[in-house]
Amino acid sequence: MRCPFCGHNDTHVKDSRPTEDNTAIRRRRACPDCGARWTTFERVHLRDLTVIKKNGQRVPFDRDKLEASMRISLRKRPVDAERVERAISGIVRRLESSGETDISSDHIGEAVMDALANLDSIAYVRFASVYKNFREVRDFEDFIGNERLASEGALIEKD
Ligand SMILES: [Zn+2]
Repeated sequence: MRCPFCGHNDTHVKDSRPTEDNTAIRRRRACPDCGARWTTFERVHLRDLTVIKKNGQRVPFDRDKLEASMRISLRKRPVDAERVERAISGIVRRLESSGETDISSDHIGEAVMDALANLDSIAYVRFASVYKNFREVRDFEDFIGNERLASEGALIEKD
């Protein structure tokens, strides 16, 4: 696998073992060139899903995109990588086993919100604020009030 940090073509697997729930193989990888270390997961791919966007456009479901948007929300939050991985697998498995191959982007957004609500309240608020496309502080405060997150101090911390 190519190094995602420096682009070097030959990287090494340092460690390889099943995840806690045994649904994936977790590999610790290292780049001999720049010294970067990262983790990859190998897992079952059940079926191809199509995402129906709000504007009607159809795009292939991309697990990496889902993961990237969750990771942005979870940036610098103290959430274990394996818990995040399990949550993502849970979402994908639910989507794959729903019997539908066409899935609305709203449906996926809701699933991500559910997962983040269980992982980290700040990540949840970050995602929700983008997903629900808040334009006014007022809307946001109403939302926070509804979700009872204000008391958890979810808005105080900033990167
Ligand atoms: Zn590298």
